[in-house]
Amino acid sequence: MPELDGKRVFVTGSAAGIGKAIATLFTQRGARVVISDIDADAAKTTADEIGAAGVANCDVTDESQVQGAVQQAVDLLGGLDVLVNNAGIEVSSPLLQQSTESFDKIYAVNVRGPFVAMKAAIGHLIESKGNVVNIASIAGIGGSPLLGSYCATKAALIQLTRVAAVEMRPTGVRVNAVCPGFADTAMVERLVPDFEAATQVPFGDLVAMKQGRLGTPEDIAEVAAFLASDRASWITGSHYVLDGGLTASLV
Ligand code: NAP
Repeated sequence: MPELDGKRVFVTGSAAGIGKAIATLFTQRGARVVISDIDADAAKTTADEIGAAGVANCDVTDESQVQGAVQQAVDLLGGLDVLVNNAGIEVSSPLLQQSTESFDKIYAVNVRGPFVAMKAAIGHLIESKGNVVNIASIAGIGGSPLLGSYCATKAALIQLTRVAAVEMRPTGVRVNAVCPGFADTAMVERLVPDFEAATQVPFGDLVAMKQGRLGTPEDIAEVAAFLASDRASWITGSHYVLDGGLTASLV
């Protein structure tokens, strides 16, 4: 039987990148996935391409949109087994030169977004004894120049994951996080010029030295699929690092 047979899944930010890879792999493994994104046209294109169960869009910074999209997904699927909080943005800036407005915005997407989505979904997840997969980052574990506020948001998401997991344990709902290193998506493409300017090292060399190769969105989808599956039934409150050894190395 496919690993995610019959699972009813809602993935935020799933029109592109890692979210799209998660929606694709979950669908291939037997799940019924509702795509959600801030970009409605891209969400529809992705949903058609991968044979998703439907689309329920939201901007994760807007709580009423998130509540509406979760309800729409529940109506489409007849319930909810898995929430994947994938939508996230990056800001590349020396920390203390970043504007306060931009700091608030990245928190609104990367921390408040998953928080309101978990609140909107939790009643349905309790009913199904489902689970949450939060897409955090190794930036939530170690610091990186130019990614100060991003690092802070991902550390916050790991902490939300831990506390939600512990509080929800009596209900049977599991909550886990995935912490990827640099992966091959539009987000990393956008970061490359600033990183190269700051380090004077070609980004490809940095990646080869620190993590062997760029991660693929599919690498991350594999771990998310495992955590969402019943094979991970004793795993909760964890954050899974996949980074080609970057965080394991002192040099
Ligand atoms: P991406 O290529 O930029 O894709 C993110 C998707 O989320 C896009 O479709 C984007 O739409 C959408 N989105 C942005 N803001 C949103 C909002 N407010 N509400 C709903 N959807 C929104 O990013 P990615 O690299 O796939 O990253 C996905 C997740 O993985 C993020 O949480 C990121 O922090 C995390 N992550 C990525 C890496 C990496 O190396 N790529 C590493 C570690 C963790 P638009 O394109 O229209 O903005």
